Amino acid sequence: MSRKLKEKSLFDSIEENQVTQALLGVKLDFSQSVGDPMVEIGRLGLVEFCDKDKFESFEELKGEVKKLFNIYVFKPAKTLNQVFSFNSKFTHNSTSKNFNERFRQAIEQYSELIKESKNGYCLACGKKDNLCSVSKTILPLTTGNSNANFTSNFSTQFLMCKECMTSLFFAPMNMQKTAGRMGFMISNNEEINKFWSEENIETFNANIVKNIDSLVDSKINIFENFIYKTIEELQEENLFGDITFYLISNTDKRSEVTLIHVTENQMNFINHVAPKFFKDALPTKDKDEWNYLLFKYSKQERKEDGKNVKFEDEVIKNKDYKSTMKYFNPLIKNFIQGKSILYFLKKNRCSWHLTQIYLKEIQGMREERLVVLKKVANRLQELNKGDKEFIRKIVFPLERTKSHGEFREKLRELMRKFLTKSNEPLFTADEMVFQILPSGESWAETKDILLIALYEKITLDDEIKEEFEKHITQEGDSEDE
Ligand SMILES: [Zn+2]
Repeated sequence: MSRKLKEKSLFDSIEENQVTQALLGVKLDFSQSVGDPMVEIGRLGLVEFCDKDKFESFEELKGEVKKLFNIYVFKPAKTLNQVFSFNSKFTHNSTSKNFNERFRQAIEQYSELIKESKNGYCLACGKKDNLCSVSKTILPLTTGNSNANFTSNFSTQFLMCKECMTSLFFAPMNMQKTAGRMGFMISNNEEINKFWSEENIETFNANIVKNIDSLVDSKINIFENFIYKTIEELQEENLFGDITFYLISNTDKRSEVTLIHVTENQMNFINHVAPKFFKDALPTKDKDEWNYLLFKYSKQERKEDGKNVKFEDEVIKNKDYKSTMKYFNPLIKNFIQGKSILYFLKKNRCSWHLTQIYLKEIQGMREERLVVLKKVANRLQELNKGDKEFIRKIVFPLERTKSHGEFREKLRELMRKFLTKSNEPLFTADEMVFQILPSGESWAETKDILLIALYEKITLDDEIKEEFEKHITQEGDSEDE
């Protein structure tokens, strides 16, 4: 061996030694939140699982990683495929089904990453240098080519700091199976994130003891229902905030991400109108109008294919009221997606009370507008000399208006009619311009609000009920069925 070559190899081994020494002294800090949702949910899971957010050394952290990989690999075997993408090295290289070998490989890969020290900025948190070059195929819950599970775009290799890379491995345990994929959420309220992580890790650990698949299963196959149930639970803990819910997949076929943002307003509304949702009893309309409405739509759905029989058995006979959330519900779907639910309120002749809370909390409607619209509805009631006649001559013609112009014209007509019986106008010109149909507000929604106030006071006999159903369904294209 030439002298020069010998020197180089000596130098290499010194350098390697220095790296190892450097690693031993490195402290790891998981206490700061990071921008990437996948890394963040993993970080929160890690902190909860390890019950600490700072580590003195890699050796200490590696103990926890070993514990985790041990669960991923050795607990019910199918788990591994749910956690890691099918083209992941964790699954792909280990088709031998030799779990010891899989475990060894996993730890080895992790150790290799820890040893790297590349310059640049971490993709997730922006930290500078001492990074590792990560290939997407080793990461849990990543998918095929488009790799949509990350918010930042990258090619097959990208740089991450050791903390963020490690966090990713802890992401699956802080998610819940729903709608055939994995769902998770991140809130602007730290306490909500804490609550979510605590619940998940508790269930995750309990599943290990029970020797069932460790990943947390929500048992709800409809994403919107899953979200509804989650925000309901948060209110029982008096936790409020804006939340983004993510639904991701770890198979290559459907790698898209679904995002739904839920606002604090939506949570406030639920808090007002839905105390203890279906916890121990079914709602009745008098007691609990909103929950009754939800119940009605869960029950009604899928009548055609006979699945409501299942609902009767599961929910009512078994008194398993929480299972209501397993059934498709167009009202929940619209509500969670932030679409207007006025149509549902009108069709079910809901109270002004409920409507008002909805309009104030969710739509942020001005109190003055609500007062004027309610006043107009009350005055129109003065023309009521019998429900049947009133509904046919006053209410249905309003219902039938199809445009801003028609609706306005109908209101003017009612104004003239009202003046023949009263000294006061139905509404003033100012009220018309600023409260009833101010520019920028939807005329159709205004119409619905007015009609809700009118329907509330009217009793429908069977004959009128039939006409009512016909009217509302005709224009009801907002209801997804
Ligand atoms: Zn980082």
